[in-house]
Amino acid sequence: MSDAPDEPVAIAPGDPLPPWCGAAWDLLAARAANATLPHALLLCGPAGLGKRALADAFVRARLCESPHDGHACGVCRGCRLLAAGSHPDRVRQVTLEPNPKTGVMRKEIVVDQVRALSARLAMASQFGGWQLAVIDPADRMNPAAQNALLKTLEEPSGASLIVLIADQPWRLTATIRSRCQRLDLAVPAHADALAWLAARGIESADALLAATGGNPGQAWLLAGQGGMQRRQEVARDLLALAAGQARAREVSKTWAGDAPEQRLEQAVRLLAGALRARAAGRRARFDPGWDAATLAARARAAGRLRAGLNGPLRSDLALFEWLDGMTPD
Ligand SMILES: [Zn+2]
Repeated sequence: MSDAPDEPVAIAPGDPLPPWCGAAWDLLAARAANATLPHALLLCGPAGLGKRALADAFVRARLCESPHDGHACGVCRGCRLLAAGSHPDRVRQVTLEPNPKTGVMRKEIVVDQVRALSARLAMASQFGGWQLAVIDPADRMNPAAQNALLKTLEEPSGASLIVLIADQPWRLTATIRSRCQRLDLAVPAHADALAWLAARGIESADALLAATGGNPGQAWLLAGQGGMQRRQEVARDLLALAAGQARAREVSKTWAGDAPEQRLEQAVRLLAGALRARAAGRRARFDPGWDAATLAARARAAGRLRAGLNGPLRSDLALFEWLDGMTPD
């Protein structure tokens, strides 16, 4: 697809914090309340547990002018500026970037990025207020970048706080680690993981959890991989039908027998993606070649059909009718 699906993330910044982040959150909130926050925080733990969401909520709470129970209010000036991305002087994000010469995405955070961050923190501290920086993934700083960061950590400026996010903290030098307050997110209890997955619509997740060492975020991503596979099948089936190379009868049987709702959901997304690409003057990799009005009508019909599957509709017949409408006469 030219509309590539977003990189799958179990818990994204802005999502509600999962219960197993509670202890870490309470600790940070207490330190903020007592004005005993460190200048550097190392947030670690396996991927998929919500480190980024926690860091994001923490940063937002620091910039909020009237936090509720330690959480950002979302409506004050500070919150609105941050949400609009126009809080430039107070939050810096250091992450993997493309090499400006080649345009190729770098696999490591380089020394120039850390130097630029340090310079901004030193300059901005003259104006007061919190200066926040997030380095993510911190464990991808190369040795020179780590050395540069160490100098900043040794001479912290004013009310500055650098949050380092690392799945693999052992890739940071011991001296950097010793300068940070470390917070580890751990895999939660099995029952908590099951409850969280169930709340996201995944029941009987024992096998998924077994396959991911009990990590609910990873289990959720794994369940979604079945979803990705179905999306590809849906794209393939629709293109084949449009080209007269598949029969609606067979396709509808397959769809009705395996996650018809998910398949229709993907069909809606694919058709809408093709339509959006056309509107932007491009052609998506998934594009059955129908005119825009037909694309739009079939996407709407798929949406209605999906909603109707929860009702008394015979899904195989309804699917057959919808799919049969796509085959060329
Ligand atoms: Zn606020």
